[in-house]
Amino acid sequence: SPSVYSQYVRPSSHRYKNAKKGLPFNVMLVGPSGLGRRTFLNTLCERAIVIPDDGENAETTKLPEAMKIQHYTVDIEEDGMRILLNVIDTPGFGDSIDNSDNFKEIQDYLEYQFDEVLEEENRIKRNPKFRDGRVHALLYFITPTGHSLREIDIELMRRLGSRVNVIPIIGRADSMTVDELKKFKKRIMQDIDFYRIPVYMFPTVDDDDEETIEENNELRASLPFAVVGCEEVVEKDNRPVRARLYPWGAVEVDNEEHSDFDRLRYVLLNSHIGDLREITQNMLYENYRTEKLSLEDN
Ligand code: GDP
Repeated sequence: SPSVYSQYVRPSSHRYKNAKKGLPFNVMLVGPSGLGRRTFLNTLCERAIVIPDDGENAETTKLPEAMKIQHYTVDIEEDGMRILLNVIDTPGFGDSIDNSDNFKEIQDYLEYQFDEVLEEENRIKRNPKFRDGRVHALLYFITPTGHSLREIDIELMRRLGSRVNVIPIIGRADSMTVDELKKFKKRIMQDIDFYRIPVYMFPTVDDDDEETIEENNELRASLPFAVVGCEEVVEKDNRPVRARLYPWGAVEVDNEEHSDFDRLRYVLLNSHIGDLREITQNMLYENYRTEKLSLEDN
């Protein structure tokens, strides 16, 4: 239930420093094809990790293919901190008529990572090379319909919210006007509330400093993040900016007035990387472990 986040008392510092070996961070991208998942990944990593489908093969890819789970590992330096980013992409999600197999496959993947850790914890001799694959955040791409959440969105987030920090985002957000986007965001949050969808909630810790409290309030108010992805770089006032060019103007990816991309990037790779990791390990994994062990006892 959504209240799990409020029950969990968080440490007041969410920032990690001096991780020389690099801080492992596992992010999963889920959403219907064409919403810019792969472009987002390249934009986030500032390099071409995966070549987006430019539609050239549209003729041959008409038949929906089964969902795949693909991994990309990227070494990132953020604010003096080394991050070993592991991105798990799910191309083909939502392309079939019945998507329940996709839900199950993703859930199995998340739980398998928990099982692996559980097994490792129970080993007498630990494997020093063990790689913790627990997914710290799942970015769910919502289609910019302008209406409300669709059944597939509700199902997926509801089903997986107890296993992973779900962060809802609106893909291709530049397809909506400022006013439409504002209304759409509001409607989505109402749906999330109404259907009791357990999405990641930015912490409310009373003993945090003024600045942190304000930052979290602001982030909560921007949900779901409206994201625009683009790998193209153009010149503006003699400096390079990443922007999507249209006949009537440019949408700048890193401009907070144009999209929430930069805010989301900062949350993931900087301000909330610690909180997302801790919630995963101390709450989501612990809950799973307790559930599993009590099942085995009975
Ligand atoms: P995926 O199937 O979700 O991985 O989507 P892709 O990243 O392959 O993008 C699908 C198409 O949408 C490509 O033509 C991209 O150039 C375009 N695209 C990606 N991100 C955006 C965006 O934020 N806004 C708009 N308007 N188009 C986008």
